[in-house]
Amino acid sequence: MLREMVSRCPYCGERLVVEIDSTAGFPQEFTYDCVVCCRPIEVRVRMNDKGNPVMELRSEEDTA
Ligand SMILES: [Zn+2]
Repeated sequence: MLREMVSRCPYCGERLVVEIDSTAGFPQEFTYDCVVCCRPIEVRVRMNDKGNPVMELRSEEDTA
């Protein structure tokens, strides 16, 4: 099942909708290119203690 998660680009602040495949298990990490500024965003999705997925977006500069 695909779930849509909404967040903001860490580079340009644009609203982003990312589709998460919740059948693939958690945590998930992948790179998503912002549709506005085209920069690679590191996406991490994990389960919180209520069993809901939580999405965290980071710029590559944060992780370097
Ligand atoms: Zn952006």
